[in-house]
Amino acid sequence: MAEKHVYYFGNGKADGNATMKETLGGKGANLAEMTNIGIPVPAGFTITTDVCVYYNDTNNQYPPGLKDQVEDALKKVEKAMGAKYGCTENPLLVSCRSGARESMPGMMDTVLNIGLNEDTVNALAKQANDERFAWDSYRRFIQMYGDVVMQLPLTSDGEDRFELILEEHREKAGVHYDHELTVDQLKAIVDDYKKVVKDTLGKEFPTDPMEQLWGAIGAVFGSWSNDRAVVYRRQYNIPHEWGTATNVQAMAFGNLGDDCATGVGLTRDCSMGDPGFCGDYLINAQGEDVVAGIRVPKRIETQLEDDMPEAYKQLDDIAKKLEKHYKDVQDIEFTVQRGKVWLLQTRNAKRTGFAAVRIAVDLVEEGLIDEKEAVGNKRRIPADDLNQLLQPIFDPAVKKAAQDEGRHMTTGINAGPGAATGQIVLSAEKAEAMFNEDNDVALMLVRKETSPEDLRGMRVSKGILTAQGGASSHAALVSRQMGKACVVGADELSINYADKTVSAGDKVLKEGDWITIDGFTGEVFEGKIDTSPSEVMRVLEGKMKPEESETYQRYAKLMSWADEHRKLKVRANCEPGDVAEEAVAFGCEGVGLCRTEHMFFDKVEAMRKMILAEDLETRKKAVDEILPHQREDFESLFRTMAGRPVTIRLLDPPLHEFLSDRHLEEEPGLDKKLAEMTGKSVEDIHRRVAELEELNPMLGHRGCRLGVVYPEITAMQARAIFEAACNVKADGIDVHPEVMIPLVGFLSEYRNQEKIVREQADAVFEEKNTNIEYMVGTMIEIPRAALCADEIAQGAEFFSFGTNDLTQTTLGMSRDDYGTFIPYYKENDIVPADPFQTVDQDGVGKLMKIGVEGGRSTRGDLKIGICGEHGGDPASVMFCHTIGLDYVSCSPRRIPIARLAAAQIALTSK
Ligand code: PEP
Ligand code: MG
Repeated sequence: MAEKHVYYFGNGKADGNATMKETLGGKGANLAEMTNIGIPVPAGFTITTDVCVYYNDTNNQYPPGLKDQVEDALKKVEKAMGAKYGCTENPLLVSCRSGARESMPGMMDTVLNIGLNEDTVNALAKQANDERFAWDSYRRFIQMYGDVVMQLPLTSDGEDRFELILEEHREKAGVHYDHELTVDQLKAIVDDYKKVVKDTLGKEFPTDPMEQLWGAIGAVFGSWSNDRAVVYRRQYNIPHEWGTATNVQAMAFGNLGDDCATGVGLTRDCSMGDPGFCGDYLINAQGEDVVAGIRVPKRIETQLEDDMPEAYKQLDDIAKKLEKHYKDVQDIEFTVQRGKVWLLQTRNAKRTGFAAVRIAVDLVEEGLIDEKEAVGNKRRIPADDLNQLLQPIFDPAVKKAAQDEGRHMTTGINAGPGAATGQIVLSAEKAEAMFNEDNDVALMLVRKETSPEDLRGMRVSKGILTAQGGASSHAALVSRQMGKACVVGADELSINYADKTVSAGDKVLKEGDWITIDGFTGEVFEGKIDTSPSEVMRVLEGKMKPEESETYQRYAKLMSWADEHRKLKVRANCEPGDVAEEAVAFGCEGVGLCRTEHMFFDKVEAMRKMILAEDLETRKKAVDEILPHQREDFESLFRTMAGRPVTIRLLDPPLHEFLSDRHLEEEPGLDKKLAEMTGKSVEDIHRRVAELEELNPMLGHRGCRLGVVYPEITAMQARAIFEAACNVKADGIDVHPEVMIPLVGFLSEYRNQEKIVREQADAVFEEKNTNIEYMVGTMIEIPRAALCADEIAQGAEFFSFGTNDLTQTTLGMSRDDYGTFIPYYKENDIVPADPFQTVDQDGVGKLMKIGVEGGRSTRGDLKIGICGEHGGDPASVMFCHTIGLDYVSCSPRRIPIARLAAAQIALTSK
């Protein structure tokens, strides 16, 4: 039997179901599922994703047998709908829509009203008893098909030719909206549309319905490879090999009169997660009108029940049934045709971090899911999205002051929560160019309407502001997914692309001027507004009571569920002080990396004296000056960590970071000062600095190589650690120091340093007449250490993967310079992700596995963690779980993310 390429759905029965997303794409699988559970869905069929792969691999060919299968399925659709495709009496019209395994909102193509020509349009007019509707549908079809399938080029001024014709006719007719055009005017537009196709492309607009259908199917499959779809997949790590399915479905019409509507709804709000069916709809309109933002849509939650009570009830029931069935918030597309509701799509809705947390917690409370599902399913709350709850917001008082100063411009729809201030930029292209020039630039992308074309610009902007479009417009949806602050539909804004101005009332701002949006409330202000910490942060910092913040309470509940299930411990990379306190507030279970050199930067004079010393005695004297400062710092860290383990790494960076030619150049007179300080001549200072200069400092005299050559530095640091530990212990506070030797490659290097550390420990304990349990271990951050881990574990009591250096040395890519080429690498799919953010599992990860196996083959209970930046990256955290690490360590703000990611992998891995 021929391979099955086409799956039919209709009349309560479907060939497929919701589990078949790989074959049918998300949309196709859910259309089948909805059909099977008795939700009204217009009949149709899905052509599989395999056909897309075949089509794109074979230069637009179809697999054998497809044509027959499509024709058979079309016959079934005709039967189910009681109409005939291409028939001049009772014509069936179809839509053709994309639908990949994971939703890619608005990134691929759709064609509606397929099957219309001069004959069928008249039949449709008779059948619907509405000539205007029929001609409007035909007009739309030519425009959509002309754009999407025939790819009618824009004019040399970048204008859409169809839109120009439409505008011309509206002007001639003296009307504002398309629905005010008469039948004769629409007929004239159709003629002009056909003419522009012929004149521009040199061929007629197709009239054969089967030719139209295959044209649309090919365009949908081809749209998998368009630029914005490719960019989107890269952003969300969707494999290019998947392909999209194509769904051909009988049209339901929302534009047959005032008892018709079309809309997109959410079974609960996806910006903040508030319960209740909501969304946008338009009466007497077709689907694309809502998402394209041509007319400002009405709100389901406030207006639909009054406008169409019957349809509202049907929809509300369907929304509840879908949530119960899918056990998650749904994003639906629907059409009301003469009072009857038809569902055209359902999918798990994209949501912000705020909404994700609230919806997960609410669904547990409503009994729809359990706690394990709430935290364990990374699709429900992508761990990274927790970040949004920690981002700054506007302080109400500061905002009120801006209001009092008369800076409030307008209020739109709050589509993506967050506070954003940035310089106005009016095109995505320009935003991208400005960002490439300066990564720190704060931009606000301001557009008339949201469009999927803006994806690249949205990615580099702090926030997005549009004058048109509703909360469900595609780009609003995407901005929420990106976690960007977003305000849409601020219709008092007038945006003039030619003059490069944005105005509201008498306020006129230019491109480059500052503007501010509050994505929680939809408010727009001219100028900058300062932000303040989020509610969760305020509670964590003790500035707000937990009971005053529902957001915090939900966050805390979720975190407690995550902690119950995760296996990995989560530590912090931090130094003493505020950051350490923050780390504790975020739930760290110890310090995985205290970089001691950060403290040296505060005592740079003593450090410089040490560097300039050319004999042991002088160096020792300089080092001794540093000791009390280090001790004080360590004491502070031990106290803050109150009994949690603290890993302190010995001095690591090349010495020239403290003193180099650059310092001498940037600080005039420094050479003289140093000469006075050390009793040397200015020439000697310059000579010594020149001696220290290295061509390749990252591979030079750094890490344990410093301690090996200057053992007195190691001795001083170890003494400071143990003295501090004893002092804190004397105050009744538990201490667990873990001394970590950096950049070890040879067991002998480790042994050399370990000896000094242990000698100092013994000496201090004897002096203080006490004893403290401590550990000595090493970083695994160069390939030799991973490869020889079995040997190194003969000495080291713990390992911590320094994946920053391990990535640098494994890939041979300088961690300080890779920014010049890695964007190109990502853009061209040479690497799947930035290897300095997400562990390169095939390379660096393989070395980590070798390191774990080697280390534990020598020392079965070897404690192993990670302290490179990757320790706070969800995918890397999950990898660390998989290879059996004991903990991850990351910067304090990433701790909640790491806790959640660790629970997600623990709950989903076997
Ligand atoms: C590392 O190399 O991963 C590490 C944590 O050390 P640093 O970043 O300080 O070199
Ligand atoms: Mg390192």
